[in-house]
Amino acid sequence: MSRPPTRDPAPVPEYPFRFTCQRSGNCCAVPGGVVRVGDADIAAIASHLALTEAACRSRFVAPGGDRLVDGPSHACVFLLDGAETSCAIYPVRPERCRTWPFWPELLADPEVLRRAAARCPGIQLDPELAEG
Ligand code: SF4
Repeated sequence: MSRPPTRDPAPVPEYPFRFTCQRSGNCCAVPGGVVRVGDADIAAIASHLALTEAACRSRFVAPGGDRLVDGPSHACVFLLDGAETSCAIYPVRPERCRTWPFWPELLADPEVLRRAAARCPGIQLDPELAEG
């Protein structure tokens, strides 16, 4: 049912790093309900879990309507711990998860990118950026 969080490697020339997912799960384990979701994400998750969208929102989406809630371990509610860190909804994981770390905010701010690289072992910064 689950697979480790990952992203198919693809060259994205404008980003000053290379990325190969190391399956650390670190991107899923930031506490504070930080995983953004949109209506299409919620609809896909609800369908995958055979829930109504209302039930899905009630169980898994924060009151603001645009973030997943945390699970008991203060990571994403869908992060499973096991022999490998896995996503319980991998086939329908939100767009933000599918596109990590190729996010506009990482391209816009080198410091944000350096912090992301410090957390995510899959990001290899271009040397001049890594030296800061
Ligand atoms: S939905 Fe899945 S891939 Fe996205 S943060 Fe949660 S566990 Fe990770």
